[in-house]
Amino acid sequence: MIVVMNHAANDEQIYKVVERLKREGYNIHLSQGVERTIIGAVGENKGSGCIAVEAMEGVERVIPILRPYKLAGKDYKPEKTIIRVNNLEIGSEKIQVMAGPCAVENRDQLIETAKIVKKAGATILRGGAFKPRTSPYSFQGLEEEGLKILAEAREITGMPIVTEVMDTKSVELVAEYADILQIGARNMQNFILLKEVANTCKPILLKRGPSSTVEEWILAAEYIMAGGNDKVILCERGIRTFETATRNTLDLSSVPLLKSLTHLPVIVDPSHGTGKWSLVTPMSKAAVACGADGLIIEVHPYPDEALSDGPQSLTGDNFQKLMVETFAVAKAVGRTLGA
Ligand code: PEP
Ligand code: MN
Repeated sequence: MIVVMNHAANDEQIYKVVERLKREGYNIHLSQGVERTIIGAVGENKGSGCIAVEAMEGVERVIPILRPYKLAGKDYKPEKTIIRVNNLEIGSEKIQVMAGPCAVENRDQLIETAKIVKKAGATILRGGAFKPRTSPYSFQGLEEEGLKILAEAREITGMPIVTEVMDTKSVELVAEYADILQIGARNMQNFILLKEVANTCKPILLKRGPSSTVEEWILAAEYIMAGGNDKVILCERGIRTFETATRNTLDLSSVPLLKSLTHLPVIVDPSHGTGKWSLVTPMSKAAVACGADGLIIEVHPYPDEALSDGPQSLTGDNFQKLMVETFAVAKAVGRTLGA
């Protein structure tokens, strides 16, 4: 970190800051200018781990030079993280497509959708059993019954399942059924939940919070990793901006940005990212073109009858077209789709 002392700071105040930083294990580089003194503190904090330099007398501001996250950063691990789910790789040159309905509504709907998406080339089945709905009067999900239907669909199709866990009290239950645990956008900074899912050692699909910066998102991943689980998949799903023509603003620039900052796999959810089924295929192609390691797509056999997110759900035919067109883009950027 760089500590900028204010212009009125006296020698004693400077000395105290320097000594405190030394005690924490930093190497000190002092620059005493005419106007003010700047202290460069280099290295790792090997002391108490907590030092509020800003609170010390004579300090004007503190500029961190190291990124605030470690385990998730490329400095810590330059090689890409590849997460294995059964025989699938997430984060390698293979692009995995997760697809299925927003919510598990009943057995027939899920099994039919699972067969459709598998036939079109999806490798992982999505479906919510616990639904984070904006209105308490909207369909809230089938809960454990939904998890059982998902497990049956896995049995029939062989596809691993990704499903959301909304609170700490259901982590154990959801982890019994799911191959990948999804942390929804609204829960990205639910730190207690992040610590709890870290204990499951299952891969975690971490959605970006609707109002989160990329750094806050990486720090949320860091929570899971610091808890001993390094299997984190980041999922860009759009952020809230002034734009209302789309449900969210799908920030695809985060994909190459994250690739430069972290070693974690990054996938894109163009369904929630746009809220409009007609935009899902173009944005899927764009996501693959800019380096995404996977997609998560909402598909419903009858979107007009869906209990949630019908307007952004693709029919089986449209999903099939998405796969064909996205495959061409994947090939153009030297990657393959699927297993
Ligand atoms: C979902 O995937 O169904 C979902 C609710 O997504 P998000 O948390 O991104 O809104
Ligand atoms: Mn949805």
